[in-house]
Amino acid sequence: MSLAPMVIEARQAVQRTASRRSTREWQALDAAHHLHPFSDAAALNAQGARVISHAEGVYLWDSDGNKIFDGMSGLWCVNIGYGRKELAETAARQMNELAYYNTFFKTTHPQVAELSALLAEVAPEGFNHVFYTNSGSEGNDTVIRMVRHYWASQGQPQRKTIIARENGYHGSTIGGASLGGMTYMHEQGDLPIPGIAHIEQPYWYANGGDLSPEEYGLKAARALEAKILELGAENVAAFIGEPIQGAGGIIIPPSTYWPEIQRICDQYGILLVADEVICGFGRTGEWFGSQYFGIRPHLMTIAKGLSSGYLPIGGVLVHDQVAKVLIEAGDFNHGFTYSGHPVAAAVAAENCVF
Ligand SMILES: *Cc1c(COP(=O)(O)O)cnc(C)c1O
Repeated sequence: MSLAPMVIEARQAVQRTASRRSTREWQALDAAHHLHPFSDAAALNAQGARVISHAEGVYLWDSDGNKIFDGMSGLWCVNIGYGRKELAETAARQMNELAYYNTFFKTTHPQVAELSALLAEVAPEGFNHVFYTNSGSEGNDTVIRMVRHYWASQGQPQRKTIIARENGYHGSTIGGASLGGMTYMHEQGDLPIPGIAHIEQPYWYANGGDLSPEEYGLKAARALEAKILELGAENVAAFIGEPIQGAGGIIIPPSTYWPEIQRICDQYGILLVADEVICGFGRTGEWFGSQYFGIRPHLMTIAKGLSSGYLPIGGVLVHDQVAKVLIEAGDFNHGFTYSGHPVAAAVAAENCVF
């Protein structure tokens, strides 16, 4: 299917405007008006931001015509590669058909129903429900609210604390940054929020000392057990971790780590949350990093590769064991205007059946 005429016209208008400007002019506009994420604004403005103008496959081009190999896949999200026409065409078609409707008030739409069924199909056994967000950060904020709601509705409202790892990355909202273990993020804005505890990261290269990777993997995992005992198991809601730490430095845990984490979560009845925002959707050769390591989580946070970055969409995949409780617990007072956005959902579905 070809692009809708309106889309082509809009694109030509942008290109016409764009072709009037030079790299320097865009850098000047950007410096004057754009505050960048995770950047020192003064230093960036003095240097001038690199202007990326188009992309195809695994390559980017900047506005000076330099071809760049995109080794980081955008921000670890363009799993399917750039320039996939079928995703662009799906978005155009869906915008013309139903650009937006909410999923709050007893309504749904075909795109979100289809994507949910598709995700249940590709997710590991027992994952049959999904809650939608616009990003990984919102997915992890949803995890905080969901696990606390889960325990409260089972008569254990004191089970609030979520244990995460030092140097983990779970996003940049107040909840996400609190779960994350990035101290330079905690320093700004008085984080973490109460009810979050951190244990050491399974980073053998830095912390292993004289231990073999396998010995160290067990030691790092047992930090979770020690923290649970310190806090009192009856107060701990969940443990969250990235199967492989991404932003923290691509830290692949020793083979003994995840099985021991699993044992501890099972033994103390703690929910296990896998932040699959990077590892999900093929990054490890499996659909999810949990499958690569044999982890059996209760919740999986997804975003990034879900749409290959073509549109913002994220969510939480919920195992039957948790979904059953949530479904019987009455209202869950949480959601976003764009939860399950039809255009993002349609593009994500197209991305997942490639
Ligand atoms: C990127 C990332 C997030 C945050 O996702 P956003 O879409 O940027 O909010 C959360 N967890 C992990 C593991 C990530 O890599």
